Amino acid sequence: MKILVINAGSSSLKYQLYDMTDESVLASGRVERIGMDSSIVTHEPADRPEVRVVDEILEHTSAIKRVLDMLTHKEHGVLSSVSDIDAVGHRVVHGGEVFKESALVNQETKLEIRRLFDLAPLHNPAHMMGITAVEAVLQGVPQVVVFDTAFHQTMPQQSYLYPIPMVLYKRHAIRRYGFHGTSHAYVSERAADLLGKPLQELKLVSCHIGNGASATAILNGKSFDTSMGMTPLEGLMMGTRSGDLDPAIVPYTMNKEDLTLTEVNSMLNKHSGLLAISGLSSDMREITEAMFDGDKNARLAFEMYTYRVKKYIGAYAAAMNGIDVLLFTAGVGENSAVLREHVCDGLTFLGIKLDKELNAQRSKEARIISTPDSTVTVMIVPTNEELLIARDTFKLTKQA
Ligand code: AMP
Repeated sequence: MKILVINAGSSSLKYQLYDMTDESVLASGRVERIGMDSSIVTHEPADRPEVRVVDEILEHTSAIKRVLDMLTHKEHGVLSSVSDIDAVGHRVVHGGEVFKESALVNQETKLEIRRLFDLAPLHNPAHMMGITAVEAVLQGVPQVVVFDTAFHQTMPQQSYLYPIPMVLYKRHAIRRYGFHGTSHAYVSERAADLLGKPLQELKLVSCHIGNGASATAILNGKSFDTSMGMTPLEGLMMGTRSGDLDPAIVPYTMNKEDLTLTEVNSMLNKHSGLLAISGLSSDMREITEAMFDGDKNARLAFEMYTYRVKKYIGAYAAAMNGIDVLLFTAGVGENSAVLREHVCDGLTFLGIKLDKELNAQRSKEARIISTPDSTVTVMIVPTNEELLIARDTFKLTKQA
């Protein structure tokens, strides 16, 4: 069974083609600058070099057609015909309270995703364009939607409600949803697998630290609390996002700096975080390099960032009355030994003991980086959201 996984953004579309007999990736790629002049298609077959084509691609249906051309291309392709694609899985950012798990695409599913446009105005409309484009080009091929929020739908009310008038929750669904759910679900399952223990018996804190960052408390195999909120702005400090702050700062700044809602939104989402404090970059590689070169602002940005990760780990250990496993994943979490060391350094009171040599080793494999006598097992687990999307698509379409 071959499954095409799609992550459609407003002007880009990423794809991976899986062969589910062994879960191997046959090809992957992306279409960038959709609707702009000179769109770029990058296609990477698993066994041949990458190809790049510059073209005019005005909308998502043409982008999907271009992807299918690539997948069946006589030189760069990996399929003899598009009819070899058995199902398509889509990443969808917001599933609201309706989608507690992945779902087959039908009229009702599409209606619900549309109803959620308000909660994720930048993402859900783009995902919908991807879904309708596939419908138009691959008629009759079943599609599945996998939501970033679904894993967190198990959170209890005490975790997901905000202490503001209940009418706002009832009228406008203002609550914590959490994001990166597919990643937190994948890495926690993988960790339990590697440890040879049932996930249901572990208390885990999963730290997905990439451009966006979130921490999740996983209790009895379910999300118990997570740091991102109604939107992906809350929680940890990120590359360009502020994370937690006093909400009173928003009206105060608007008043003092004469900012509009759009401007303040942009400030918190695009001009804050590592970028704002370092005055240099939102990229953790550049921050750490500058810090080691003696840049004081880069050091401050790094220290604020790691301090906030540490506080969330402590909070979630308290929330679950313990922690058995601490997971690091995503771009920064998987690659930055210095970040992991800084975070774990002050957590010895929880029984966390990092093996500095194991922590410093570079590898793409999931692995333990704590000492044998550490009460908490610290692990690096490379995330693979696409694989989880492919697996859910496989499960749901096999039954269909
Ligand atoms: P992601 O959003 O998961 O793709 O993560 C992207 C981020 O990972 C980049 O912005 C970098 O800041 C970070 N990153 C990647 N490699 C490294 C590294 N070796 N050290 C520190 N940060 C890294």
